[in-house]
Amino acid sequence: MSDQHQDRLRPLRLKRREGRRLRAGHLWVFSNEIDTDSTPLRLFEPGDAVAIRAADGRFIASGYVNPHSLIAARILSRDQKIVPGKSLLIHRLKIALSLRERIFDHPCYRLAFGEGDLLPGLVVDRHGDVLVAQLTTAGMERMKDDVLEALRKVLRPAGVLWKNDSPVRELEGLERYVEPAWGEVPETVEIREGRARFEVPLAGGQKTGFYYDQRLNRERLRPYVRDADVLDVFSYVGAFGVHCMKHGAASVTCVDSSATALEYAKKNARTNRVRIDTLKGDAVDVLAGLRRERCKFDVVILDPPAYIKRKKDIDAGREAYRRIIQAGMQLIGREGYVLVCSCSAHMAEDELLRLVQHSARHLDRHAQLIEAGGQGPDHPVHPAIPETRYLKALLCRITRQR
Ligand code: SAH
Repeated sequence: MSDQHQDRLRPLRLKRREGRRLRAGHLWVFSNEIDTDSTPLRLFEPGDAVAIRAADGRFIASGYVNPHSLIAARILSRDQKIVPGKSLLIHRLKIALSLRERIFDHPCYRLAFGEGDLLPGLVVDRHGDVLVAQLTTAGMERMKDDVLEALRKVLRPAGVLWKNDSPVRELEGLERYVEPAWGEVPETVEIREGRARFEVPLAGGQKTGFYYDQRLNRERLRPYVRDADVLDVFSYVGAFGVHCMKHGAASVTCVDSSATALEYAKKNARTNRVRIDTLKGDAVDVLAGLRRERCKFDVVILDPPAYIKRKKDIDAGREAYRRIIQAGMQLIGREGYVLVCSCSAHMAEDELLRLVQHSARHLDRHAQLIEAGGQGPDHPVHPAIPETRYLKALLCRITRQR
């Protein structure tokens, strides 16, 4: 096959024996895998397009490079004839869209999930006719104009917002900013999830607007929350809480440290014609206060922010999970359920379950794992990249055993 298209891309050569993981499907090239004698990393600018080649010169894939990042390059295509750019992005977005259109009745979902959709460095949430896009790597940032054009062509949105404020951008040497990319971008949008509607802030909100990744776990709670008193800890705009009320809960109390998030939670409850209570504060303090007041709940939802962002945080993060799990479990009466979530890629599911068991023994309770859930299907897992399977949601029954 002709190599002429790839000749336009500068080569990034791997050391001997370093191509195997990439050929097996992984999309990341680590800096120590590169033959820096023949292709020195310092000769590249962050975001340069490259042809990744084996030690013997054979083409492996095209991608982009960042000499300052531990992940020195990411693969965009394994096809020799394709040069990364708008038409590849259009192709990938169409494939991503066709999965979501098959699954969902409403156009509210994560449209592009980075590596999981073979779009490393790009996350897009679709909130009806408004898109919120996040570029997380120098390579995608370089293709910013192509990304916007591809999104406009495939989705014909009314507005697109760049929500480029993720802390991971700092690892790539990128500034953090939020700016309208195209069209009309309102301050808030109304989205639908199942039978519920939510108003969510865009530029002023968290992440890319809404935590679509928990969709299946919100539905999963249905049989457990009927007639139950529910505590929704780390509620954000009340998505779990509102769904629980719609599933027939007796009461819901949302806890969050953000006053704005709780305002939206109350508003969303009204929109859905249900009632929720809110408590603002640090979750650990609020839960300790509820315990002092001898409050009991039938279902406690724990969906904290990622306590482990990098590998070096593992010990501190594990301790933070342990504390919140124990505090949540203490509020369960004679019998109840705790939904323990972790969105830290570095927190393994069996490790999280071990923390549940540890807390149960510490409190002299019996824990049963009833259901284990994860991210919804609009966050597809790349089988070769375990980090893409980041969300764990363990539904545990807690009883007192004599
Ligand atoms: N459960 C939500 C998503 C939670 S995101 C949903 O389904 O949509 C994590 C939330 O935790 C954010 O809303 C953030 O404001 C809140 N938060 C972060 N640190 C906190 C703390 N120490 N105490 C209470 N809430 C906190």
